[in-house]
Amino acid sequence: MLREQLETLAVLQGIDLEVKKHKDAQTERVKEIERREGEIARLAAEVKTLRDAWEEKDGVRKGKEQTIHDASRKATEKRMRMNQIKNIKELQALQREIGAIKESNSIVEEELIEVMTDLEGQEEILKQKEEELTGLRDDWNGKRESLEAEVAAMEDKIAQTRDAREATASRLNDDLMGKYEMLFDRRGGTAVVAVSSAICQACYMNIPPQLWNDVLRNERVNLCPSCQRILFYNPPAPEQGGQP
Ligand SMILES: [Zn+2]
Repeated sequence: MLREQLETLAVLQGIDLEVKKHKDAQTERVKEIERREGEIARLAAEVKTLRDAWEEKDGVRKGKEQTIHDASRKATEKRMRMNQIKNIKELQALQREIGAIKESNSIVEEELIEVMTDLEGQEEILKQKEEELTGLRDDWNGKRESLEAEVAAMEDKIAQTRDAREATASRLNDDLMGKYEMLFDRRGGTAVVAVSSAICQACYMNIPPQLWNDVLRNERVNLCPSCQRILFYNPPAPEQGGQP
């Protein structure tokens, strides 16, 4: 009776290990997807910050160009008025005004050159980051689908084991099931160990003689004294072939 329960438990563990394998592989891929998308999102944010800074600077450039343009037009208007002036005092005043406009324009022009130099530098970095981002996206677009398909395929495989797991689990008593599930989580997927000699096949420690006798009888649930896993006796397979 108990022997049957333990054998069923070993079957359940086989199913659960299969599920665990698929889940671990799935988790690995999901993490990879998150890592790659995180990397792209970070770079995209960096590109956006650079582009915003460039646009702000470009606004400054446009403002300065407008200032120069407006001042030049004003200077031209004043020059045109010079023809109509007969009074030398007025002429000198107008010349001074034109000179002042030229002077302030030359300051703005210098500022403009500085802004344009900055813009060129920013543009270069922006272009470089944009190319990097495009490269990352292209590379990722080629891989994402296959990774997502793999995650879905693993989900299918996990789903396929569900009926078999339920059928197997329904044959086990609740106490044993509870103990098994706790051990399965805590002991990395090996909760029940089939032994055919007095050595635990999970931790490789010797099983004391009295306990080994109990294990052979399969009358109660015996735990390995060193790793606390459930031990059950699995007689060695009969020798096959013509070995002497
Ligand atoms: Zn052990």
